[in-house]
Amino acid sequence: MERNEYLEKIKSRMPEKRFIHTIGVMETAIQLAEKYGADAKKAEIAAILHDVAKYADEEWMKTIVKEHGLDLRLLDWGPEILHGPVGAWIAENEFQIHDEEILNAIRFHTTGRANMSKLEKIIYIADMIEPNRKFDGVEKLRKKAQEDLDEAMRASIRHTLAFLVESKQPIFPDSIECYNDYYKE
Ligand code: GDP
Ligand code: FE
Ligand code: FE
Ligand code: FE
Repeated sequence: MERNEYLEKIKSRMPEKRFIHTIGVMETAIQLAEKYGADAKKAEIAAILHDVAKYADEEWMKTIVKEHGLDLRLLDWGPEILHGPVGAWIAENEFQIHDEEILNAIRFHTTGRANMSKLEKIIYIADMIEPNRKFDGVEKLRKKAQEDLDEAMRASIRHTLAFLVESKQPIFPDSIECYNDYYKE
């Protein structure tokens, strides 16, 4: 499928604002892929589909988890944690994406994980720094992303975990394992 076919298909599944975010992630991810020698076409597809499940019904997502053998820990979490793994399931089963690298980039785009691939890092960071994102420190992360992908990932996961702790939210184990991967001795 062509870029515009994917975009057309996801547009009806999300509000305009999320669609604009998705375009921002796509453009940022392609730029990072070209800069760091990853597959730009894979980055494009993963970025377009990364939030495809963002507005899916929570109970439906939990049914998918149970019936299709996804990580059962997901059943104790809400849509913010479910939409990555379920998005990967939609990409595979509805969009016929069978490339594990693309699917993992979608699957782990919210939490990260230990031992991330280059494409996973690119999607995680692009999601965080795309031009429509506004939060304290985003300019620093944008600058780091142009200097060193791992330093950008290290700063990004630290920022996410600090935000979660500060706002008293529970932390999914993959997020912690991602953090430890970057901060262990
Ligand atoms: P978005 O879908 O483009 O808004 O961005 P993400 O998929 O990266 O993140 C969605 C939400 O999940 C954000 O508010 C993150 O702060 C939050 N999030 C990321 N990791 C965790 C986690 O481990 N636990 C919880 N509770 N939320 C998380
Ligand atoms: Fe997301
Ligand atoms: Fe993110
Ligand atoms: Fe996103």
